Amino acid sequence: ASNPALSTQAGPVILPTGAPDASMVRVRGLAKAFGTNVVLSDVSLGVEAGSVTAMIGPSGAGKSTVLRCLNLLERPDSGLIQIGRHSIDVEKGILPANLAELRRSAGMVFQSFNLFPHMSVLRNVSLPQQRVLGRSRAEADEVSHRLLERMGLRDKSSQYPNRCSGGQQQRIAIARALALEPEVMLFDEPTSALDPEVGAEVLEVMRELASEGMTMVVVTHEMRFAANVSDQLVVMADGQIIECGDPHQIMSDPQHPRTQRFLKAVL
Ligand code: ADP
Ligand code: MG
Repeated sequence: ASNPALSTQAGPVILPTGAPDASMVRVRGLAKAFGTNVVLSDVSLGVEAGSVTAMIGPSGAGKSTVLRCLNLLERPDSGLIQIGRHSIDVEKGILPANLAELRRSAGMVFQSFNLFPHMSVLRNVSLPQQRVLGRSRAEADEVSHRLLERMGLRDKSSQYPNRCSGGQQQRIAIARALALEPEVMLFDEPTSALDPEVGAEVLEVMRELASEGMTMVVVTHEMRFAANVSDQLVVMADGQIIECGDPHQIMSDPQHPRTQRFLKAVL
């Protein structure tokens, strides 16, 4: 807003490449406390469009809370959140329309899948499209079939989730999120509840998504995925980002003692 070139004349504004607007996600000064427990303090983060950010750090560091604040499943105490064209300044208040737009622009995948147990796989993927995007059932089902096929789950559509393996359930959850055409996908330890082999199938789907240009933020303990797929590595501890940058650089030469300790434990 302080850039005079953006505020004066009408008409298209041509931004130099690499301008902040190339970022798909921007977070500034995010803070969150639960009662007296300060869980996030002054978290700032940028994620470029089409890039993958991996987020690591010890349990309780605040990783899930960052993701949950990003799509406002959790209400931050303060901070600025921008996803694509939508932004929210928490201190200025959150309008319901704003909230809905921001939520829509971020797809979320949880460790525990969170599928609707009483609905078929197809309905799991279709219903949110009808509710959130106003698609007809036929339209939604068509999109669902296409996505389930892509996830290698064509023959599962009429099953109930509990008849599917953990890896299949997670891929259904990914299909469900993708069906809403999010601008960014947020993954919170998507493979932590899975056996390594099954987790690998899910990681492969995520790797494909990344190669197709999906912007992703992935909280994970899979250091190989972080090293091979992510463009940016974010290390959190005690509610703060203690290190952020090139994944290989950080893994081979961590600067912060807490990063060093964490990497020693997981690598
Ligand atoms: P991580 O994902 O890095 O393990 P979390 O973001 O889940 O960390 O949690 C960070 C801190 O916030 C922890 O101390 C946790 O107990 C606390 N916390 C998270 N969610 C809640 C909540 N809904 N109510 C109270 N405390 C919470
Ligand atoms: Mg967590």
